[in-house]
Amino acid sequence: MLGAGSLARVPDELDRLGCRRVLLVGGGSGGGAADRLAGLLGDRLAGRVARVVQHVPADLVAAATAEARDVDADGLCSLGGGSATGLAKAVAVDLGLPILAVPTTYSGSEATDVYGVRGTRKRTGRDLRALPRVVVYDPELTTGLPAGVTAASAFNALAHAVAALCAPAGDRIAALYGAEAARLISAALPVALEHPADLGARADLLLAAYLAGSGLAAVGTGLHHRLCHVLGGRYGVVHADAHAALLPHTLAWDEALDVAGTARLAGVLASDDAVRGLRALARAVGLRGDIAALGVPAADLGAIAAEAAAAVADDHPRAGDAAWFRALLTEAYGGDRRSSEGG
Ligand code: NAD
Repeated sequence: MLGAGSLARVPDELDRLGCRRVLLVGGGSGGGAADRLAGLLGDRLAGRVARVVQHVPADLVAAATAEARDVDADGLCSLGGGSATGLAKAVAVDLGLPILAVPTTYSGSEATDVYGVRGTRKRTGRDLRALPRVVVYDPELTTGLPAGVTAASAFNALAHAVAALCAPAGDRIAALYGAEAARLISAALPVALEHPADLGARADLLLAAYLAGSGLAAVGTGLHHRLCHVLGGRYGVVHADAHAALLPHTLAWDEALDVAGTARLAGVLASDDAVRGLRALARAVGLRGDIAALGVPAADLGAIAAEAAAAVADDHPRAGDAAWFRALLTEAYGGDRRSSEGG
């Protein structure tokens, strides 16, 4: 459900799920919203895990799983960005508990059955136990999302929209979701940045996150996501920042993407070219198109390329082609060359 004030509906939704002893997963996001939710849960609150970390470290999963067992939880309630949702997902896969998710960013994780855990490298998997059973979107929780996180997180959703719309093996439902999500983001993101408390724009971005995530779940992740996860796994690069920096480059380079879908994306972005349209939006919302700023060492580009070339799906035309990945990464490292050309 989506609507201002819908946080108050969470207890009823948990009752509908039959959850009586809930582990709350969520800490500092959303201006004390997790504390408010703890109060709303009353005696349904069996325990709480307040520490969440990007990319879901394996030791946090072990601790949260142990906590869920200790308090005899029969359900999980996450509140926060993709890091809180992701920790709940990993516990749900371990214990088979249902999740109610209250997302406070545009990561869209709540709409997919994809989960990830970071040990020595980041590993992702798909499991329907990871898919939240109920999602409650309350735009009031997102008005305090800092501008930089708002922009990068919306580009995370946009990356999902691009994947859904331009997937090589197209899917009409996913493409529809992806196109509408991209349209919502290009219209609402500048408004949300200029007027952070605009609940209409914030609701549109949450809706876009849901549509884009659902579309992505239908078609699966491609080259772009593999690269983001390689950077996240190796250097802990903030996931949304990796999406924002890489998306214009992967859209320009990934020859597996569907040409008709890319043309449709250009139209949605009101441009004659999808890459130019994306770069124009990124510039307008203050996002940089380079991975150098994310702390990726230049000396490692060859090693990253080798890992990405091995990680991309076998049927991708550039699977195993480390030299091609290195060229892509070299461009992404130097930034958006074409951004200075306008358009
Ligand atoms: P995040 O959850 O770490 O949140 C980013 C920052 O924003 C944090 O500092 C957080 O405390 C803060 N924050 C969140 N909501 C806020 C709010 N409403 N107000 C103020 N501050 C707020 O980052 P994210 O980008 O949402 O999620 C990233 C994680 O999600 C990564 O681990 C990524 O791999 C995963 N992810 C998974 C999927 C999937 O389908 N499985 C999809 C996207 C992202």
